[in-house]
Amino acid sequence: HAKAEGAGTCRCFEPEMDESARQRRSLERDLAEAVALGQLELHYQPLVDLERDRIKGFEALVRWRHPERGLVSPAAFIPVAEETGLIVPLGAWVLQQACRDAADWPDGISVAVNVSPLQLRNRDFAGTVLGALAASGLAAGRLELEITESVLLDDTATSLETLHQLRRTGLRISMDDFGTGYSSISYLRRFPFDKIKIDRSFVRDAATSPDARAIMRAIIILGTSLGIATLVEGIETEEQLAIVRAEGCREMQGFLFSPPRPVAEIAAMLAGVPAGLLRAA
Ligand code: C2E
Ligand code: MG
Ligand code: MG
Ligand code: MG
Repeated sequence: HAKAEGAGTCRCFEPEMDESARQRRSLERDLAEAVALGQLELHYQPLVDLERDRIKGFEALVRWRHPERGLVSPAAFIPVAEETGLIVPLGAWVLQQACRDAADWPDGISVAVNVSPLQLRNRDFAGTVLGALAASGLAAGRLELEITESVLLDDTATSLETLHQLRRTGLRISMDDFGTGYSSISYLRRFPFDKIKIDRSFVRDAATSPDARAIMRAIIILGTSLGIATLVEGIETEEQLAIVRAEGCREMQGFLFSPPRPVAEIAAMLAGVPAGLLRAA
């Protein structure tokens, strides 16, 4: 390794570096064509209301069906899309497709779409969202946008104004992965979020770590005090479900209820809800 050879030595053309750079460039090239080639697809994961034991909506989660790589997870290509700017057209496609899909679901069922900082900073973003609603006929009240605090970290004025403008049309804004950033709490004072999605790291550790559980409880109380709905992400076990219920959270998401599923399975899932999708009484 370069380090072992001492300061000033730089082996910039190690074969494996070259190979990973090549891989990265080919991923970028393929990704640039993915939307046009129809290789992206949305899977949907239910957002479950435990007060009434029913599905309130679904989160749209994008996947890339790559001819050689198979089904690629967003963790592998969303960062590349963000770095290259491809997230803008990719995100527009996600918004349009999610609104079209949701327009076929029953009226009470909403759809949540993840939005990257770069999309929101784009001056056309509000137009893209409103265009997706208009083209699909989906009511604004059935669309939720999920943003992370990084959206508000820089260029705050423009992004905040866009969010306010969109929220006035009736759609809802959720703060995603709450508790993982540096200043999540202060952002609750800067924007009237409709929902806080508590990061799944808290529930993952809640059974074994009293601290994780206490922080989760405090976030739920904070949301309730502010009149903001709270949802816990990543419920995988009955034990976690019982804990989250006991702490007073009423909306949840996780593999216990369902992993993200292809859109073709959603109608059946909605029809089958009373038959036992929700395990807990
Ligand atoms: P996210 O928005 O926090 O989405 C939740 C992620 O947690 C999803 O991963 C989901 O499959 C996973 N998950 C749900 N329940 C459980 C559980 O019980 N256990 C565990 N271990 N995981 C669970 P996924 O689909 O791989 O997406 C990862 C991230 O990629 C998302 O995190 C989101 O930040 C991003 N992403 C996905 N689709 C889009 C998109 O259309 N646009 C943008 N900008 N980002 C997206
Ligand atoms: Mg999300
Ligand atoms: Mg999340
Ligand atoms: Mg996440």
